[in-house]
Amino acid sequence: MAEPQKKKAIPKVDIYKAWCKTCGICAAFCPTGAIACDEAGYPYVKDARKCLSCGWCEIRCPDFAITVQQKKDEAKKVRESFEKESPEGTPAPGE
Ligand code: SF4
Ligand code: SF4
Repeated sequence: MAEPQKKKAIPKVDIYKAWCKTCGICAAFCPTGAIACDEAGYPYVKDARKCLSCGWCEIRCPDFAITVQQKKDEAKKVRESFEKESPEGTPAPGE
């Protein structure tokens, strides 16, 4: 007897409109077109099934206005490396 197929979890993308400045970076960097911008420039989830959980929209948003749940490990690693790096000439905390 064949095993029942596991349903693929659909990633959840949260957009906090109050912090969004409608720059469109998140939609521009989304590799699959899962998010798009409306006429006013605010992003919205166009097709959640297309979301790869790559986390690029969250990483690229300059205003922390977008959050992706169930991000892949690679995205977590990239973000952690961003958090560890400090801009050139700026001492890291504790230095
Ligand atoms: S996590 Fe990746 S695929 Fe999903 S909406 Fe963001 S940029 Fe697009
Ligand atoms: S990158 Fe951030 S601020 Fe820019 S449109 Fe997307 S959610 Fe809004």
